[in-house]
Amino acid sequence: MNTKHSEWIKSQRSARVWLADSMTAEAQFAFISPLHRLQHWISSKRKQVMCWQQKGKECIYCKNGLRQQHDFTYGIFIERGNENVFYLSTNLSTHSHFQRLFSELLDNNVNPCDVVFSFERKKIATPTGGLANGYALEQMDQEVFVAEVFRPSLDSNFQNQVKNFKWTVPEEVVRKLADLEGKPFTLIDFFLAIKKTMPKLKDKTAKKYAVALIENGIVDLRKARIFRK
Ligand SMILES: [Zn+2]
Repeated sequence: MNTKHSEWIKSQRSARVWLADSMTAEAQFAFISPLHRLQHWISSKRKQVMCWQQKGKECIYCKNGLRQQHDFTYGIFIERGNENVFYLSTNLSTHSHFQRLFSELLDNNVNPCDVVFSFERKKIATPTGGLANGYALEQMDQEVFVAEVFRPSLDSNFQNQVKNFKWTVPEEVVRKLADLEGKPFTLIDFFLAIKKTMPKLKDKTAKKYAVALIENGIVDLRKARIFRK
């Protein structure tokens, strides 16, 4: 890495933290199941607003054709000995990247909250074959900032949302295919539909997703998740 280490940028009004482009800083996850929100970006006001759909109401922004944005907020510890949780807002690509890493660690019996990571603000590869702004993680060989006894339990119901299953097809891909759920397709037509939705995806990867997500000629997105025992 040729980037300099920096401090997290802290909000003046809340416990939110973030990094500017190409900045790097360390943190430990307080929990691995993020808070998920749908939002819209109003460019004229340079402001995020809530998407009313998540409250089961009609959303004026959706109606006007504004794109929905996923926000996944993670709780992190940002310095040794400081038990205050700070909040890092991430997009779907970063969230997918985090969850993939957590799955690998959990498969190796490592608690993802027991690891200090280096976070770098940069362009990351998305599972749909593109690039997006996000946070890349690198595992550091470092003593944890906050010991387990002072953290939320990984066995709480909230945490289990993540701990009990893993995505075999990335969540970002599954969300892109949501409209096809339950529809009849031949394998080749489903492959073509995936390529149409995500043109940058490699043929080999698209084929793998097609095979994974079809059952008896019907698209079944539930197959994207497998549950741990
Ligand atoms: Zn909306």
